[in-house]
Amino acid sequence: MNIFDIPAFTDNYIWAIQIDDSITIVDPGESIPVLKVIEEKKLNLQDILITHHHYDHTGGLLELKKYISGKVYGPKNENIDGIDIALVESDLIETLGHEFRIIETPGHTLDHLAFYNMQANVLFCGDTLFSAGCGRLFEGTYDQLHGSIQKINQLPDETKIYCGHEYTLSNLEFVKSQINSEFIKEKYKETVKKRSMNKITLPSTLSSERKINPFLLETVPDDIQDLKAVDCFKELRIRKDNF
Ligand SMILES: [Zn+2]
Repeated sequence: MNIFDIPAFTDNYIWAIQIDDSITIVDPGESIPVLKVIEEKKLNLQDILITHHHYDHTGGLLELKKYISGKVYGPKNENIDGIDIALVESDLIETLGHEFRIIETPGHTLDHLAFYNMQANVLFCGDTLFSAGCGRLFEGTYDQLHGSIQKINQLPDETKIYCGHEYTLSNLEFVKSQINSEFIKEKYKETVKKRSMNKITLPSTLSSERKINPFLLETVPDDIQDLKAVDCFKELRIRKDNF
């Protein structure tokens, strides 16, 4: 399975899963950059996967739907126009011969889903978990988002994290202000370098995130490490919102 990014807006990534000449795309916030890639690389568009209803993840859906030979899979949310198959926790879908399991991850929005492929250890998690950070709470509670991130935290170390935005650098600015760790400092330097060359910082891996992403609660600031898990998570989210 080859996966590549199609940049959209200022910092969104539309992900393309490619097998031979066919692609399935995840979270098409825009249609034009996708149509351009399809034309340039002479690809067929198979399916569309949607993680949540926000416009920067769905804005290109209806236009691109005209070109797909398969289906549009996404949350059970009637506010999203164009979903063919509405998904719930533990549903299994198949695209391009690969199976993805649905993980409900409410918090950022209430309808949020993640798509997990066990064979390749690949997770498309939209705006739930970012590299070195997590999504803002727009609709859910701290408890819900914490629970969703802990579901992701059950996946294997090698899991590749494909999230919806290039936020790694600004997230690491926050993390290094909170936690004194050589690994985080190194990651920050590496990220500054990549971004100065306009290179993508994704996918991350869960093993790396466990060392740099406090929202997984594996590595947290000393002054809040004794708090109850959800309180620690809430305090981190509030600090990040005010950073
Ligand atoms: Zn969002």
